[in-house]
Amino acid sequence: MEQLPKCPECGSEYTYEDGQNYVCPECAHEWSQSVEVEEGLVVRDANGNLLTDGDTVTVIKDLKVKGSSSTLKIGTRVKNIRLVEGDHNIDCKIDGFGAMKLKSEFVKKN
Ligand SMILES: [Zn+2]
Repeated sequence: MEQLPKCPECGSEYTYEDGQNYVCPECAHEWSQSVEVEEGLVVRDANGNLLTDGDTVTVIKDLKVKGSSSTLKIGTRVKNIRLVEGDHNIDCKIDGFGAMKLKSEFVKKN
């Protein structure tokens, strides 16, 4: 018989199954049975830290903005990034610049 996992919240062993979820009777925590599969998109910042969607990062070098005469200055904070495939693997919106793409090697996680 399959061993049910312990509750990740309180460590209770009395987990039971409820449809697609596991439920803990002690703290009422519910979680999905399916193990979350990473999307396979691994993006690291300049320091090697993993980045995730929604992170805030800081630009670590002045960057020329394609199709514009302006430069994205070092120290610019970029909120709510979205990771994408490709050479420029960060999709974001920057105040004063609008939507653009960055390379993860030129940012660091806040
Ligand atoms: Zn619990």
